[in-house]
Amino acid sequence: MTHSPVESVAGAASDGLVAALDATVARARGSALYRERLAGVRIRSLADLRALPLTTRADLQAAGTHGTRALPLAEVCHYGESSGTSGASNSTWLTAEDFRRDADAIRAAHPDVFAPGRVILNRFPFMAAPAHLIQLVAQRGGGVAIPAGNINWDVPFPRALELARRTGAHVLAGLPLEPVVLGELARAQGIDPARVGLDTLFLGGAPVPPAFQRCLARVWGARVIELYGSTETMLLGTSCSAGTLHPETALACCEVLPLDGSDEGRLVVTTIGVEGSPLVRFDTGDVVRVTSACACGDPRPGLVVLGRAPDAVEIAGRRLYPYDLIDAAAGAADVLDSSVFFIVILPGRVLVRIETRASGAGDATAALRARLPGVPVEVEPVEPGMLLDVEMLSRSPHVYKPVVLADWRRPGRRILTVGEGMIEWPRPTWAEGRRWLRRTLRTAARRRRLGRDLARGADG
Ligand SMILES: [Zn+2]
Repeated sequence: MTHSPVESVAGAASDGLVAALDATVARARGSALYRERLAGVRIRSLADLRALPLTTRADLQAAGTHGTRALPLAEVCHYGESSGTSGASNSTWLTAEDFRRDADAIRAAHPDVFAPGRVILNRFPFMAAPAHLIQLVAQRGGGVAIPAGNINWDVPFPRALELARRTGAHVLAGLPLEPVVLGELARAQGIDPARVGLDTLFLGGAPVPPAFQRCLARVWGARVIELYGSTETMLLGTSCSAGTLHPETALACCEVLPLDGSDEGRLVVTTIGVEGSPLVRFDTGDVVRVTSACACGDPRPGLVVLGRAPDAVEIAGRRLYPYDLIDAAAGAADVLDSSVFFIVILPGRVLVRIETRASGAGDATAALRARLPGVPVEVEPVEPGMLLDVEMLSRSPHVYKPVVLADWRRPGRRILTVGEGMIEWPRPTWAEGRRWLRRTLRTAARRRRLGRDLARGADG
C-alpha cells in the first residue's frame, strides 16, 4: 500500500487534523486572497484538501499588501514581509497568539536549551520573525534574551562577540553565517571560539547541511539546532538531538509533492497555527526529502530541506541543491581546518574558494570529489581575510543616538551636522588601507581571469 504524500508527513489523518484544516479554510476566507477561491469549501478528509489549488508566491504578491490579511487590523500586532531576492516581497500579518504558539512550540521542543537563567544572544535581523520569537521565548520563561540583531549598525559583529563573552551567553540564535563570522573575529582577537562559552547554536534562514553543522559544532564546542520556517508560514520545525528536522505538525500540515523520478519533492504547507494570514496549500518552493524512524524516538517523520527549487544548479547532468553544494564545500573546508568558504558555479565546474592557514594539510579536492561524484570541481585555497575581511568588519561605523545639539566647550566630539551626530565611520590606518587594497586588487584580478574563461567558453 502506498502512502499519499500528505500522510507521509502529516501522519495519519486524525479527526483533529481534518477539523483543524477545515478551520484554517474558514479563517482563510476572511482574506481577499481566499474569499472567492475558497467560497463554500469544507474539508472533511485529506482528499478534500488535496483537491484545492496550490497557492503560489505569485498569488500572494498579486493579492497585495493587505490581501493576505484575514482579520481586522485591530486584531493584528505584527506585519512582516519576505525580503525576496528577486525584489518582490510577500506580506504577512500576525496576531499575538500566532507568535505565542510558535514560541511555545520552540520552548517545548528544546526545554534544555531555552530555560530560566539561560542567556540567548539574539542575532536574528529585526525584520525577520525569528528575532521576535526568540524574544518571546525568553519572556515566556525560556531564558534571558539579548536583542542584538545583526544587519543593524548599532550591534556590529565585534560588539556581538563582546556581548556574548561579557554576559556569559549560552545560546547564539541567528543566521548560519553568524557563527562563521564571529568565529573568525574571535580567532583574530586570539580567542578560541570554543572557550567563549556558547553551548548551543540555534540557526535558521538558510540551509545548514550536516558537514556545515559538524564544522560549526567543532569550532564552537556547541550543539547546532536547525530552525526551519518562512515569513509566510512561520515556524515549520526544529532539529532534534539526533539532528533530524521534525515538522511541527500541530502548527502546519505539510504535503510533499514528488518531483519526477526522485525521492524528493516540493513542500506544500497549509498553516494551522496562523490566524493573521492563514495559507491553504502554499507552495513554499522548497525542495525537501522525507526521512523516517529517527533515532531520537520521535514518531514524526523528518525533513531534509534541500533549498529553493529555482536555486538548484544543473551541472554535469546532475541537479544540485544549495544543501548539496554547501554540504560538500563545508566538508572540503573542514579538511583544511576552515569554516570560511565561497562557492562559484562556472560553466562545467564548481569552484570552491576556501580560506586556510593550513598548508599541505589534507586533500580538500578529494573530499569535494567524494561528495559531488561526477561533477568537475576545483578547490582554490586562499589566505585568511580574502573571503571574510575580519579587519574591515572590526571597523564598523559607530552609531550614536541622534542629536541636534553639540556643546563644543566640552571635551569630546565636535559635531557640526545631524549626519555626524548619528554615525561615524572609522578612518583606516595606513597599514590597514594597504592590506585592504591588496586583497581588493587580488580579488579583482581573480574575477577578471574567471570572467575571461567564462567569455571564452561562451564563444567556443
Ligand atoms: Zn529526531
